Amino acid sequence: MKVTHGQILARGLANHCPNCGGNRLFKAGTLFELNDGCPDCGLKFEKDEGFFLGAMSLNYGVTLVAYLVPVLLLWYGGVLGGRVAVGLACGGSLVVPMLLYRSSRSWQLMLYYSFFPHHLPANRRELGGTEDENV
Ligand SMILES: [Zn+2]
Repeated sequence: MKVTHGQILARGLANHCPNCGGNRLFKAGTLFELNDGCPDCGLKFEKDEGFFLGAMSLNYGVTLVAYLVPVLLLWYGGVLGGRVAVGLACGGSLVVPMLLYRSSRSWQLMLYYSFFPHHLPANRRELGGTEDENV
C-alpha cells in the first residue's frame, strides 16, 4: 500500500489531504469553505451528500468531552461558581466548535480513509485500478 495507515492518521491530524499530503483542504483566504477536491491530486473530499455529517458529530463529541465535561466537573467540584460555569459553557459551546471546524472535517476524512485506505486513488493505482474511478 502506497499510503499507509500511519500517513493517513498523520495527514488527518495535520489537516492535509489524505491521498497526497497536500496542504489545501480549504479554499485560500477562507476559514470554513472546503475545496471540492484536492488541488494537488484531485481527490474529491465529499464522497456523497451528507458525508461531513460525521464531522459535525466529531466536533460535537470533542467539544462535549474535552470542554463541557471539564467545565461541569469544575463546577461540581466547587472550583467554578455557577454563573461562571454557565458562562463558560455557553460561550464555549459557540466558540469551541468554530475552532474545531476545520480539524473536524479533516478528522472525518482521516477516519473514512483509515477504514477504507483502498479507496484512496494513490492506493488504487498500486492495486491496478484506474486513476479516475470514484475520485
Ligand atoms: Zn491531494
